[in-house]
Amino acid sequence: MYNKTKTADKPVGKSSGLNHSSSTRTFSKKSDSKRTISQQDKPHKPTAAKTESDAKSSYKKACASVPQNADVCPVHKKCGGCQYQGMAYKKQLSLKQRQANMLLGKFGPVLPIIGMKDPLHYRNKVHAVFAFEKGKAIAGTYQEGTHKVVPVESCLIDDEKSDAIIQTIRGLLRSFKIKTYNEDSGYGLLRHVLIRRGFTSGEIMVVLVASSPVFPSKNNFVKALRKEHPEITTVILNVNDQNTSMVLGERNITLYGKGFIVDTLCGHTFAISPSAFYQVNPVQTEILYQTTMDYAGLTGKETVVDAYCGIGTIGIIAADKAKSVIGVELNPASVKDARNNASHNKVNNISFYHNDAERFLNEMQEQNAKADVIFMDPPRAGSTQSFMSSAISLNPDRIVYISCNPETLARDLEFFKKHLYTAEKIQPVDMFPFTTHMETVCLLTRRK
Ligand code: SAH
Repeated sequence: MYNKTKTADKPVGKSSGLNHSSSTRTFSKKSDSKRTISQQDKPHKPTAAKTESDAKSSYKKACASVPQNADVCPVHKKCGGCQYQGMAYKKQLSLKQRQANMLLGKFGPVLPIIGMKDPLHYRNKVHAVFAFEKGKAIAGTYQEGTHKVVPVESCLIDDEKSDAIIQTIRGLLRSFKIKTYNEDSGYGLLRHVLIRRGFTSGEIMVVLVASSPVFPSKNNFVKALRKEHPEITTVILNVNDQNTSMVLGERNITLYGKGFIVDTLCGHTFAISPSAFYQVNPVQTEILYQTTMDYAGLTGKETVVDAYCGIGTIGIIAADKAKSVIGVELNPASVKDARNNASHNKVNNISFYHNDAERFLNEMQEQNAKADVIFMDPPRAGSTQSFMSSAISLNPDRIVYISCNPETLARDLEFFKKHLYTAEKIQPVDMFPFTTHMETVCLLTRRK
């Protein structure tokens, strides 16, 4: 039905400006405000907030169990990744709640924000840059607004194991005579290192981002790295030879392992390749997705659209309880992952389309297609009026809007309100403790 092979070859002007892991400029992504990154050894069992009272009690628990004044990170001012460093977690949550109430309260009831039980070391993705200072290798993050490397040995919100791997790589640079890349002069080889760790699987992916595919002694380098960290399951050389602030280039060369990691969320296993979008806080992602499923109210009979579907997580989780699911996504690497994920999870009632979500929904509208439930999970810039008009023309009973930017969510809810869709429930979820960012799930239903 919908043109499977048609690909969106142009950016659609939705860049978040925060993109640290997209493969090209074309694919904007969601809140990912930290520059150095990661996650912890022991998973916390998330509790789903299925009802308003669940959400309230989870909020209370989070406030009660978290240190009221987390240690201030020694580099937080220079790094700039954690705007709420040094602020009691309870206070952070109440600021986010206030912001959600202020921006979204006029559209419908805003439930109490779901915070984390332990808001430290939640990140499953770590990014580092390197430099030599007085002959000594340093690893860390760029000082805000500059290309000066601020050394970071450990980060309060990063996965600790990933931070340790970064330090090992730093230690190997001199003996392997690896020149670090200078963003201003364009000289040097190693631009970035990106580490992703599967929360439940424990699998670890190390992505060496280099300005050239010629990485001297790469096999010995991988050997030395794996000797220190045998838990690394794959190592990828990503070639980024462009003069760009984007972290990843388009070419990936697998140096060790399978070239991707797998992780489990809500009982499903997902493969994640280097440039695909994957939520950075797995504990809160399960809560976010469970809330999303709860709001969708699927009974097994519905035709569902999963727009801005990434690697297909939401659609694949929903497919068990739907008649059929159609996913649409602009990033080709994510679409490839999504298709593999569907077959790996033996989900047969889902198809993924590589296209611009707006263009794809316009085509569905032209073909008079219908949907019962639409999930939409756009990047920070939100959706477009053309997408939303087409979504409404499919006549869904429910639209579940997952947003990482309450400002653009408010703008889009205004549009839905004018077009007979009411926000029934608005659930903020704290996916990014210590930063100003937050995620929100909103259930929209058609007014009779
Ligand atoms: N729902 C997924 C991904 C959300 S992130 C998840 O929960 O993991 C937003 C996704 O929108 C990214 O994968 C990004 O590549 C994709 N995207 C950005 N602009 C798009 C567009 N115009 N059309 C389709 N997908 C787009």
